[in-house]
Amino acid sequence: MMREVVVVGASLAGLRAVESLRTGGYDGGITVIGSEPHLPYDRPPLSKRLLSGEWQLERIALRKPEDMGSLDAQWRTGVAAVGLDTDARRVSLADGSTVGYDGLIMATGATARRLPGQEDFEHVVVLRTVDDALTLRNRIVDGGKRVIVIGAGFIGLEVAATARQLGNEVLVLEGGPAPLMRALGTEMGAAVAAVHGDRGVEIRCDVTVEGLAPGAVVVDGGWHEQADVIVVGIGVSPAVEWLAGSALRVTDGVVCGSDLNAGAPLVYAAGDMMRWHNPLFDEEMRVEHWTNAAEQGSLAASNLLSEAAGQPTEAYAPVPFFWSEQFDRRIQFLGRAGADDEVRIVAGSIADRRFAALFGRAGRLRGVLGVNMPRHVMPFRKSLMERLSWDDALAQAAAM
Ligand code: FAD
Ligand code: NAP
Repeated sequence: MMREVVVVGASLAGLRAVESLRTGGYDGGITVIGSEPHLPYDRPPLSKRLLSGEWQLERIALRKPEDMGSLDAQWRTGVAAVGLDTDARRVSLADGSTVGYDGLIMATGATARRLPGQEDFEHVVVLRTVDDALTLRNRIVDGGKRVIVIGAGFIGLEVAATARQLGNEVLVLEGGPAPLMRALGTEMGAAVAAVHGDRGVEIRCDVTVEGLAPGAVVVDGGWHEQADVIVVGIGVSPAVEWLAGSALRVTDGVVCGSDLNAGAPLVYAAGDMMRWHNPLFDEEMRVEHWTNAAEQGSLAASNLLSEAAGQPTEAYAPVPFFWSEQFDRRIQFLGRAGADDEVRIVAGSIADRRFAALFGRAGRLRGVLGVNMPRHVMPFRKSLMERLSWDDALAQAAAM
């Protein structure tokens, strides 16, 4: 009998897990452990409408405060999990207490990477939490500042767009040869980011950031780029330190089976902190986007219930999806892009900053990108699910 479920991580994946336990008919105890002092809130607005000041805090709650009670869960916020013993079925917390479980769902997400010595400089910030977002908002909301963003990934470009729209001067420094290269490859990364140049954001690639100095970023050869505010957006690390010494396998995320089981009975993981083998792409992946965390949270919980009931669990075999908003462009991507993919523009044009492109490899469709082209993206979900050939995908695009 499973009478006590513990969820570690009180954010998107954790909340979806709790909701799925209840909709799945589980009526035992649920304890949620969260290291932030907040109830679950949504992160995408932190670099967009909350950062710009257009939205206030109440808009980003993932569930209205008055609807939290119906989940009948105990929320232990402001305390981190620091250890896991899967034999004793116990989670240790930073306040010295322990919580026992019959079933466990881990959803601790990721933490922002920092530059060496970053903590020594008050004007340097990262953006992961609502507290980070409010700190950054206070510094840029009135405009007129020189903002340097280190890293031209999603955080970097979304913050750059918001800061620029607030009337700041913005310079983005990227270590690689193109913006958004990891998610979209060199050519499409540059194409998506071209709108920044149009709106007065300078993006410099292949830059080595040598360090930080008071009011400046030190770049190649010791040159000091002066800044009022410096935002470090150089990626994240999965939040798995608390699993050190546990019996679970951890390599850039906790390693799970296709059904999200983490390698111990009745223990599952979801969201940015985990990696699993996606049978649809026959690839082990760790995905750092919203839709993945939401879907995995729900499935981890329903698989936990199935395992507890002695029923078969379900594999998670999705077409990954993400979106981004930068200026008035809505970027959507379905699938998985690789550095050596063939890329074909199938609608619109880069010059118009409005286009759709297909990504293919080894004769198979692997992904679709749209910039302000929603109707050219979603129809390809079915095609990606069905492993459509590259030629058939091009024919599908031509017929649209
Ligand atoms: P998280 O949201 O990171 O939550 C994990 C929670 O666990 C955190 O509250 C953390 O404090 C807590 N925790 C960590 N360690 C412990 C511990 N030891 N004990 C207890 N609690 C712990 N994705 C998109 O697809 N589109 C977007 O436009 C988009 N915009 C984004 C903008 C920003 C600024 C950020 C930061 C992310 C954005 N994302 C976006 C990504 C998306 O928000 C994440 O993929 C998603 O939040 C992951 O959810 P999660 O529940 O796995 O982890
Ligand atoms: P990211 O997408 O991994 O991008 C980080 C960028 O910084 C990469 O281009 C990286 O280049 C570069 N970089 C790394 N070290 C550097 C250095 N020392 N100097 C200069 N550039 C450096 O991560 P992120 O933008 O920080 O975003 C953090 C997380 O939030 C990610 O999980 C992301 O998915 C999520 N997020 C998602 C969205 C969205 O989906 N719309 C929006 C915001 C945030 P290399 O790749 O060459 O290392």
